[in-house]
Amino acid sequence: MNISHKDTKLFRHLKKWLEKAILDYKMIAEGDKVLIGVSGGADSLALLDLLDSPMIFVPRFSFIAVNIDMGFDPTYQSYDSLEKYLQENNYRYVMEKTDIGNLAHSDFNKKNPCFLCSRLRRKRIFEIAETEGCNKIAFAHHRDDIIETLLLNMFYGREISTMMPNQKIFGGKLHIIRPLAYLREELVKKYSQERQIPVFKNDCPTSLTSKRVYIKNLLNELERDNKEIRDNLYRAMSHVKPDYLLSEQKK
Ligand code: SF4
Repeated sequence: MNISHKDTKLFRHLKKWLEKAILDYKMIAEGDKVLIGVSGGADSLALLDLLDSPMIFVPRFSFIAVNIDMGFDPTYQSYDSLEKYLQENNYRYVMEKTDIGNLAHSDFNKKNPCFLCSRLRRKRIFEIAETEGCNKIAFAHHRDDIIETLLLNMFYGREISTMMPNQKIFGGKLHIIRPLAYLREELVKKYSQERQIPVFKNDCPTSLTSKRVYIKNLLNELERDNKEIRDNLYRAMSHVKPDYLLSEQKK
C-alpha cells in the first residue's frame, strides 16, 4: 500500500466518481487481478495512486503496475526515475525496455506512428497480463480522452465510436477497464499535483503533433465560445438516435 491518502475534497471527489464508474460498468469483481498500465505520465500515476487507496464499495482486488518503455531516451533517465518511484511506494511492477517507439517512427511508417506504436505496446501488455495471471487491464483514459476519441474516429476513421469504459477482449478472457471514465482530465492533473506525484517526461517526437493533440487544441478553441461543448459531446454518446442517422450508403 502506498503512503496514506490525505482526505482532501479533491481526493473524495475523485474517489467517489472512480468507484461509481467501476460499479456502474462492473469493471472489477472480487478477486480480480488488475494490470495497471503506467506510462509515467500524470494520468496513469494518478490512477495507480487512486486504485491503491482503500475502496469503500469496490470489491477486493490485487494489482500490478506495468510500464513498457518505448526506447525514445537512450539514457533511460525517465525509466530509472519511474522504477525508483514504484519501488519507493512498494508497488508490485513489471517494467520492460523496448524499441517500439523507434520502430513506429521508422521510414516505412512515418505517416502514422501512433497506430503501430499503440498496437505493439498493447500486444506486449496483453502478453504480460497473461504471464502475470491478470484478467483486467486498467488504462488511465479519462472523460476527455473518451470525447477526443469520438471525434478522432469520426474525423479520421469514418465511424461513430469511442473507447468503452469496460471492453471485453479475446472472447471475455480479458477486459480493458477505464476507471477514470467519469473524470475530467483537469481534475486528474490537479490531483497528481496535490499528491506531488512526479511526472516522467515523454520523449516521443510525435507527442506534441499527434492527431489527438490537434483534436484537443480544437476543442479548447471551440470551448471559448461554448463552455459546454465537452459536456455536450460526452452526453451525446449516451443519447444516440439511430433512426436519425443515415442507413448504410453505397460507395
Ligand atoms: S504520441 Fe508517440 S508514444 Fe504516443 S502513441 Fe503516438 S507515437 Fe506512441
